[in-house]
Amino acid sequence: MALFDRYGRAHDDLRISVTDRCNFRCFYCMPEEGMTWLPHDEVLNYEEITRVVRITTELGFTSYHLTGGEPLLRKDLHHLVEQMVAVQPGMDLALTTNGVFLPKMAKDLYAAGLRRVNISLDSMNAGKFLFMTRRDVFGQVMEGIEAAAAAGFSPIKINAVAVKGLSEEELPRFARWSRETGHVVRFIEYMPLDADRTWAHEKVLTAEEILEGLSVEGELELVSGHPSDPATRYRYKDGKGEVGVIASVTRPFCQDCNRIRLTADGMVRTCLFSTTEHDVKKLLRGGAPDDEIKTWLAEVVLTKTPGHLIGQEEFVQPERTMSAIGG
Ligand code: SAM
Ligand code: SF4
Repeated sequence: MALFDRYGRAHDDLRISVTDRCNFRCFYCMPEEGMTWLPHDEVLNYEEITRVVRITTELGFTSYHLTGGEPLLRKDLHHLVEQMVAVQPGMDLALTTNGVFLPKMAKDLYAAGLRRVNISLDSMNAGKFLFMTRRDVFGQVMEGIEAAAAAGFSPIKINAVAVKGLSEEELPRFARWSRETGHVVRFIEYMPLDADRTWAHEKVLTAEEILEGLSVEGELELVSGHPSDPATRYRYKDGKGEVGVIASVTRPFCQDCNRIRLTADGMVRTCLFSTTEHDVKKLLRGGAPDDEIKTWLAEVVLTKTPGHLIGQEEFVQPERTMSAIGG
């Protein structure tokens, strides 16, 4: 069983934002100041999230991803991991984090059953890291990466947002680092989801430019992957180092999209760029039985549009920032 949309795409991947709060202020995501947070009672609790996981599992979902805001700000996140893994033992579950709290949390997360971690790191240079994240914690993130490796996570995936004028010189540094450590470094094209609304097409370092910069360190070959994996993967021909590009802007993968999203306040979104949301919290808290929620979700998936419209006149930037949607 799977949830199909009107374009024949099967949906089996749920990205769950557990909080809209964050300890960073990355310029491509949040404003420097003045963010208002969701009130606590509007945020789904772990039992409610786990219920959505169970219901979607019964609808054929197999892949789950925890994100935010900064998910490790949520108290005892490993308890949620435990509850989710109990629904579907061995489930494909990943976490995306800025890494700062991994030194104290990596072990518990691994013990709870988490096996995949993506750590965001935009620069190998402490000054540029501060400029991009507006937080002076480069060293703590590097410690977080080490803590994740020590806890058993392997391979570790690093996500770097690629911005023109900032990220070019990061490409060879990250490539060398990947070749030394075995971490998989993926570059994400800068998307129009920033709170400051200063995104512009010219600021996107494109997949083509990223690959050109990475090739300086050695010849790359394509690694075959799942069509719904947003990252196109490459490895260096000498076998050392893997890199990837998430080219949401210049090479959208909408035709293979298999995911829906759940915001921290219980809204289902069929796309990162959706301008409409569907309130599952109302059903969860209103006593709706599982079957009703399943039928409702099937209808929600049918509202999914064929793809995002970045670069076209009709494109409308969603009201929520990436941090509030869950990246
Ligand atoms: N706070 C966590 C983190 O940064 O890893 C998880 C949430 S964050 C929104 C998820 C991912 O989205 C991060 O890798 C971040 O770099 C990326 N991201 C945020 N805003 C973006 C934008 N405007 N364009 C591309 N990627 C973005
Ligand atoms: Fe926070 Fe992640 Fe957004 Fe940076 S990208 S502000 S770490 S939610």
